[in-house]
Amino acid sequence: MAGREIIQIHIGQAGVQLANACWELYCLEHAVKFDGTLYDPNQAEDSYSPFFALTGAGQVVPRVLMIDLEPTVIDEIRTGCYRKLFHPERLLTSKEDASNNFAKGMYGVGHEMVDLAMDRVRKLVEECGNMQGFLIFRAYGGGTGGGFGSMFLRNLENYFCKSSILEFVVFPSPKLSNIIVEPYNTVLSTHASTEYQDIAFILDNEAIYDILSTKLGNPRPMYSNVNRVIGQVVSNVTASLRFEGALNVDLSEYQTNLVPYRRIHYPIVAYAPFMPSKRLFHEQFSVASLTNSCFKPSHQLVKCDSDQGKYVSCCLLYRGDVVPVDVNNAVVNIKHTKNVQFVDWCPTGFKVGINYMPPIAVPGGDLARVTRAVTTLSNSTAIKFYWLKILKKYNVMLRKRAFVHHYVSEGMEEGEFLEAKENLRALILDYKEMES
Ligand code: GDP
Repeated sequence: MAGREIIQIHIGQAGVQLANACWELYCLEHAVKFDGTLYDPNQAEDSYSPFFALTGAGQVVPRVLMIDLEPTVIDEIRTGCYRKLFHPERLLTSKEDASNNFAKGMYGVGHEMVDLAMDRVRKLVEECGNMQGFLIFRAYGGGTGGGFGSMFLRNLENYFCKSSILEFVVFPSPKLSNIIVEPYNTVLSTHASTEYQDIAFILDNEAIYDILSTKLGNPRPMYSNVNRVIGQVVSNVTASLRFEGALNVDLSEYQTNLVPYRRIHYPIVAYAPFMPSKRLFHEQFSVASLTNSCFKPSHQLVKCDSDQGKYVSCCLLYRGDVVPVDVNNAVVNIKHTKNVQFVDWCPTGFKVGINYMPPIAVPGGDLARVTRAVTTLSNSTAIKFYWLKILKKYNVMLRKRAFVHHYVSEGMEEGEFLEAKENLRALILDYKEMES
């Protein structure tokens, strides 16, 4: 397994705060201490080498780059308990933030950061023997994640066009949005990014808040709670790159199996079980019940009713105590479920991964330790309803040309607003067409 390195890039406040949750979990999974030393110095390098590089001093260093135009969040990492884990040259900040403005992140202050960021990426890639791809984490609604992130993505794809680029993207929650111009930033970022990413997994804060309050018994979730749930899902998606399994799936296989056409690359992510940490070990879940749960909207990390759409393809990623025969039975069962309808031009539909490493619960987190779990990545046409909600908000503001001058004064052409709108409308139509 050695030599299939992955480089992770965390951009903007949401991206960097997600780094905290992801790397906290990876350190637990790979028995890495806060300072980058290993609990067992003789641990086989194969498992951690995709995510960590081993130094001559016997320390491991995450293959990661964090970028934020404003320093506060990264400063917390520089001074926090993980300060010795991360390479200081890979924590990039500038002094002026993007003020929640896509155009400022893309054309203004962000422009000055991109060369330095690309230089750091090239160095990270040079350290790899056989780099497999990039995972990018950011929020489309922010100025840095949206604007700078989109420009950076374009540069990355131009330079490393043969590598896979997968994104985990926080999308604004129509109900909980805390930035007024988020619909603008989100639609503009989608428009500016769709050509350069291979897959983008949409993470909707509102859906995750609901899961935390209704399923995990946390009535007042904070970003740190949301991020740990996302961290667990990201860990599941990447487990097969790091641990042994009966059927491991690598990054390029996700693309091959999930993306039937270049633009149709926004799978819906679902996870099971959401078992609260208070109910430790009191319940056990069968493979069939875990699988069924993932096809319910209540287990999705995006708020849209998957029963209203058709599935194009679906990856089922099991981890822990799972045997192929149980998975086969669960899949047969799902195929006969009335609500899980596939498009008729893709009759097989399922790609299965089985990894032996059970999920690890973070101490003090909301999720209990369980012996098995499943994550599904479903390319479903139901995602069009989510796009429609965002486009509606975008159009309401754009019709009045509200806030547009802030974008134009940063060097963005006003016509880009219309191009972005048309592009998203075309994407919605593309999904509609999949159904027929
Ligand atoms: P940026 O730094 O300019 O890219 O701005 P942000 O990353 O703060 O982007 C704003 C969006 O990200 C809003 O939708 C916020 O709700 C969301 N957000 C901010 N911080 C976090 C976080 O730590 N976790 C999650 N899940 N969402 C966040």
